[in-house]
Amino acid sequence: MSVLTRHRIAVVGSGPAGLTFARVLHRHGHPVTVLERDPAPDARPPGGTLDLHEGLGQLALDKAGLLDRFRALARPEGQAMRILDVDGTVLRDWRPGPDERANPEIDRGQLRDLLLGPLDVRWARHVTRVEPGAGDGVRVHFADGRQETYDLVVGADGAWSRTRPALSPVTPRYTGVTLVETSLDDVDTRHPDLARLVGDGSVAVYGVNRAIVAQRGSGGHVKVYAQFRAPLDRHPEPDPDPLLTDTGTDVGPDIDTVRTALLSMFDGWAVPVLELLRHGTAFVRRPLYVLPVGHTWTHVRGVTLLGDAAHLMPPLGAGANLAMLEGAELAEALATGSGEPDDTVRAFEERMWARAARWAGITAAGLERLVSPDPAAALAVFDEVQPS
Ligand SMILES: Cc1cc2nc3c(=O)[nH]c(=O)nc-3n(C[C@H](O)[C@H](O)[C@H](O)COP(=O)(O)OP(=O)(O)OC[C@H]3O[C@@H](n4cnc5c(N)ncnc54)[C@H](O)[C@@H]3O)c2cc1C
Repeated sequence: MSVLTRHRIAVVGSGPAGLTFARVLHRHGHPVTVLERDPAPDARPPGGTLDLHEGLGQLALDKAGLLDRFRALARPEGQAMRILDVDGTVLRDWRPGPDERANPEIDRGQLRDLLLGPLDVRWARHVTRVEPGAGDGVRVHFADGRQETYDLVVGADGAWSRTRPALSPVTPRYTGVTLVETSLDDVDTRHPDLARLVGDGSVAVYGVNRAIVAQRGSGGHVKVYAQFRAPLDRHPEPDPDPLLTDTGTDVGPDIDTVRTALLSMFDGWAVPVLELLRHGTAFVRRPLYVLPVGHTWTHVRGVTLLGDAAHLMPPLGAGANLAMLEGAELAEALATGSGEPDDTVRAFEERMWARAARWAGITAAGLERLVSPDPAAALAVFDEVQPS
């Protein structure tokens, strides 16, 4: 019998990291308590589409026994990528071959439901503080005043983690780049020209210190991200209510004012590209924050971090993948290891830090080049990463 059976384990957060961790432990027959702030799985829109890489997110799903079900849901054609000049000239138009399965796309909501499966998440459990060394374990404090004690608390609670302060004083810093996100529904019937522009996957347009990226999800849904450099003092600091901070801030009811401001920021760009903003419905502001590249901490018995809580980085296709792989690897190591769980966690942290530091460096450099004074730098990024 594994030493783990004596261990009370909680994971804070039911994002990609927390759910993958819980699902792999569940597969190995170990109980785990999932504590989630949201009152229900569909309490807020799940967000856009994620590409899951073969050696990262897909490997994690394999460890969870979910790879076949993922393949049935995923959209390999969503890997298609078109790059335009600001005047609308097509610079690159890459389409995946029929067997190209390196980075298929899946809607976040579909991924969440796949991972949730039989898991018994405790919804509406808003963690405010995690206190290691509290007598018989690690004490978890909740917003409603309740407290619970566990032997291991895994903080998978995202960018504005309430678990992180138990390990590290570091907080996320603003990158200088803000995204404003909007979306289009039923694009094939309501906006067929835009549907053709976006194609089966994504279209990206890079200008001077600005970009517009549109990505197709399932069911004719398209997410559009206007990206630009802006000092943070143009926006208030994130609201201290984490319900707003890590999910983005709705820019409010005055959609027309926001749309007009955005359109003037991209003035002179090709009309079909601007139509993506013109037809957008709600707008959500997402200033991009990061943790320092190579963020680590002194190991503390009974507490660790996964995913964005440990290594928040620019959203360039790695964050959810790393979060899932870390969740799967830690769960597998705990479930199959014969040593002390705390030694397992300590060894896992060393591996996670090394891999995350590499990706944090890559994505930080990528953001500098993708939203940069030189649009040719963005094109070069595409040419470096795209399979030929
Ligand atoms: C616009 C955009 C596009 C992206 N595209 C990609 C992509 O294509 N590929 C990719 O790999 N990554 C992508 N990312 C990054 C990816 O979204 C994150 O890295 C990933 O979601 C991190 O997963 P996580 O589980 O660590 O944290 P989260 O997904 O942030 O999940 C944290 C969970 O913890 C809960 N929580 C937070 N605080 C508390 C609390 N105090 N108590 C209890 N529960 C709490 C939250 O409600 C949430 O459910 C993108 C990010 C953005 C913003």
